[in-house]
Amino acid sequence: MATEKTKVLIIGSGPAGYTAAIYAARAGLKPWLYTGGQPGGQLTTTNDVENFPGYPDGIKGPEMMVDLQKQAERFGTKVHFELVTSVDFLTYPLKVTVAENQVIEAESVIIATGATAKYLGIPSEEKFANRGVSACAVCDGYFYRGKEVAIVGAGDSAAEESTYLANLCSRVHLLVRRSEMRASKIMQQRVLNTPNLEIHWNTETEEILGDESGVTGVRLVDTKTGEKKILPVQGFFLAIGHQPNTEIFRSFLEMDDGGYIKVIPGTTKTSVEGVFAVGDVSDRVYRQAITAAGTGCMGALDAEKFLVAKELVLVH
Ligand code: NDP
Repeated sequence: MATEKTKVLIIGSGPAGYTAAIYAARAGLKPWLYTGGQPGGQLTTTNDVENFPGYPDGIKGPEMMVDLQKQAERFGTKVHFELVTSVDFLTYPLKVTVAENQVIEAESVIIATGATAKYLGIPSEEKFANRGVSACAVCDGYFYRGKEVAIVGAGDSAAEESTYLANLCSRVHLLVRRSEMRASKIMQQRVLNTPNLEIHWNTETEEILGDESGVTGVRLVDTKTGEKKILPVQGFFLAIGHQPNTEIFRSFLEMDDGGYIKVIPGTTKTSVEGVFAVGDVSDRVYRQAITAAGTGCMGALDAEKFLVAKELVLVH
């Protein structure tokens, strides 16, 4: 099979990938975008998106991703519904293998493969996904205002998100599996000082309970005594960390100890020239659609500058 070539190859189809595509396409770079196994990314698993500026009435996550795809295609992005299975960034042009057998040579690569929220792995999580179970308090907390919710975790995310929820919800139960939290002391202090936030130490979630209306409660077990109890809650949040989708890049790019791709601060440049990282794959802190879109734009502009410097495109 003949090797195909492209100037800009984008891996990933969330807000970061599509925004990079829109900018690269409008710069005349005719980008190729590989959607991966979950076209549209994490937002396709969300119902209503109410915090993306420009949608006063909110928008469904999947609908927004279709709009972004159309917008990217309108300016000449070629969208491939395929999975990138490996890369080779040791030599230039960069090589990207699709579906295990098709090698593409790219003058620049924008990685927008995102991160996947970790779940506990109990069947009821999936059963009530989007019907009371969420891994993003900032995205979905608003839907539970005035209600009682539980959140699992003990790191900085759990501390931050539980206090965020406490501002909206009548009562928040923070479920901590050990007798201490991993979160920074200042964040822990904030949790302890929040009156409508109750910490349940040594507590694991056995099952999420519910009916056709969604989540109605959660069955917990005390890991010290084995005692079980049911908490009546309408929302169940997870804040037990994320896994960046960076496995195939591991031997080529510098990453932090969590597996997030390192970029030069204020840019999207990675440790390999011509390779850029945008969105959640290099952001362990903000993880929002709008911040992902913002860095997607930066990635396209950085790639364009890189190509211009290499004199591979005409300077406009
Ligand atoms: P972390 O990996 O730091 O923490 C995950 C937490 O989830 C741990 O406390 C862990 O418990 C708990 N956990 C994991 N699996 C389970 C399970 N199956 N059941 C119950 N609990 C479980 O992830 P975070 O997302 O909190 O933070 C990631 C990084 O981002 C950190 O470096 C953090 O400092 C940073 N961050 C910084 C923020 C800020 O500065 N504002 C905000 C958010 C994140 P255990 O402790 O028992 O292992």
